[in-house]
Amino acid sequence: MDDAKAGVFASKFDALKRLSAELGRDPTRTQAAGGNTSLKHDGIMWTKASGTWLAEAEQRDIFVPVRIDPLLDALHAGDPRAEKGTDFIATELSSTCLRPSIETTVHAVFPQAVVLHIHCVNTIAAAVRREGEAVLRAMLGKAGLAERFAYIPYCRPGVPLAHEIEKVTGQQTDIVVLENHGLIVAGNSVSDASALLDAVIAAIAHQPRDIGAEADIAALARLAEGTGYRLPGAKAVHHLARDSASLRVATAGALYPDHVIFLGEEVAAIEPTDDAMRSFLAGSNAGCDSLPPLLLVKGLGVLVRETLTASGEALVGCLSDVAARIPADAPLKPLTAEEIYALTHWEAESYRQSLDRKAAAQ
Ligand SMILES: [Zn+2]
Repeated sequence: MDDAKAGVFASKFDALKRLSAELGRDPTRTQAAGGNTSLKHDGIMWTKASGTWLAEAEQRDIFVPVRIDPLLDALHAGDPRAEKGTDFIATELSSTCLRPSIETTVHAVFPQAVVLHIHCVNTIAAAVRREGEAVLRAMLGKAGLAERFAYIPYCRPGVPLAHEIEKVTGQQTDIVVLENHGLIVAGNSVSDASALLDAVIAAIAHQPRDIGAEADIAALARLAEGTGYRLPGAKAVHHLARDSASLRVATAGALYPDHVIFLGEEVAAIEPTDDAMRSFLAGSNAGCDSLPPLLLVKGLGVLVRETLTASGEALVGCLSDVAARIPADAPLKPLTAEEIYALTHWEAESYRQSLDRKAAAQ
């Protein structure tokens, strides 16, 4: 690359890092290591490394350079190496030993230079509903964006999702909502993609429900004593156990992949009494490792396992933000047992969990 070309690339890459960090700092757009961004330039796609946080995009090297054509060839040929992506890293350009995001092939199938994928709570609040596509199409239609929009039925992230998205991508489709998952927008520059993302989120914004009075923290803390559970970091999440519409969402089953990965398959809910707590703990006879990370004490508030990581906390916040945006009567579409099994038995997700545990131990 000559100096002028290198300068153009550096300024685009800096803009992507700045935008990624902004997205990562907004919990209504991204939580923990969720979401990822990419920039294609000169045959290389710079994509977020698996398990890294977008919020850190300006402080550490979180992007991995991947060769686009060989990766797409592998994807189209059914070559299993497309899933992990490590064989396509342009090692001479890379200073990190991290793996590319599990959603690298998803980014690669977009023809646009910049792809932003986020777990935006306004998107998720619609995309976990049975009528999610119609709701979103109507909202985007009012903003004149429906023609550019595609809705992808739930599909396991990674290669299966990339194949489904490739059927709809093209220059005219730059807004893609993934059922039970999140939002992707694409653009030919960082500023175009960023402006489109803002326009889409403004169009699909759901007003959060008024979620009422604060939790009785003292009573919750007393109930948690000696149980291995503790209060969550954020006070705003207690409506999950106190508001009946939120409780319905929280106990409907896992609604999106990162919930399964960082908060487990099951959210427990008990009555607000010592007896209920005792029988809940006694009922988990498989040992304390099997206790659900998130425990809702009905009418009182939320408890989390003492060992819950920062990622788990961020996903409690996500559930809180999503639940507050879903109408009490909206039919929901939780992930099926087969879909959850496919996530929990996928090597790429075990890798993300191991990075999270490592970070928590530091
Ligand atoms: Zn995602």
